[in-house]
Amino acid sequence: MFLYRHQGVGLQVAFTDRHGGVSDGPWDSLNLGYGNGDDHTRVDTNHEMVVRGFGADPARLVRMSQVHGNDVVVTDGPVTPFPVADGLVTSAADVTLLVRAGDCVPVVLADVAAGVVGVAHAGRAGVVCAVVASTVRTMRRLGAGSIVGWLGPRVCGDCYEVPTRLRAQVAAAVPATWSQTSWGTSAVDVAAGVRAQLEELAVEVVDIADSLGAAVTCTVENDDLFSHRRQGSRSGRLGGLVRLTGHTAP
Ligand SMILES: [Zn+2]
Repeated sequence: MFLYRHQGVGLQVAFTDRHGGVSDGPWDSLNLGYGNGDDHTRVDTNHEMVVRGFGADPARLVRMSQVHGNDVVVTDGPVTPFPVADGLVTSAADVTLLVRAGDCVPVVLADVAAGVVGVAHAGRAGVVCAVVASTVRTMRRLGAGSIVGWLGPRVCGDCYEVPTRLRAQVAAAVPATWSQTSWGTSAVDVAAGVRAQLEELAVEVVDIADSLGAAVTCTVENDDLFSHRRQGSRSGRLGGLVRLTGHTAP
């Protein structure tokens, strides 16, 4: 169920893999996405299973409808219908924020001391429009200071092939994204761009690729993950989750 977990005092962070849910076919089995052809009842069940596995209350799960933009919503509980946004921020304890991705970078942000957490969805468009910077600024307005940012599973810079002109456009906005594939063609490294944007804002970056290995955290290379690029439009979606656990140390 979980590719990565971090349990600190007052904080839980996790990124999912594709196992342990109830979907089948190309969504086998822990698909968290609604817009990819999977049965919504099964996706609902997958969300409930993930949040329970995360040790949290499914009734306190906050989701968003992601559109590759940079709008950020501050919330203290679930909103229906899901707000259209690519960043969520809360200072409420025991609220679980969920970001979904299937090649884009799911980002989790936290300042436990200030009691502010957030998530962001950063793909190629999201890195250009600086959605993570918008999310960090929103957290700071709520009192966050020393923020840690986790970068989750995504297509790596060795695998994300794009036309040369597109690489140039993205790198013009965020130079750190410039990359080439392992077979020598032009590529974009979205995670490198997100890392640069976070470091520019003095956010301490924890990239799960550094501890797990780039091949394990690359959605194209690791069959235990979902990938739009590897599987096509009927692929599943992975999740990044964060929760302030209030007064209770794990
Ligand atoms: Zn890769």
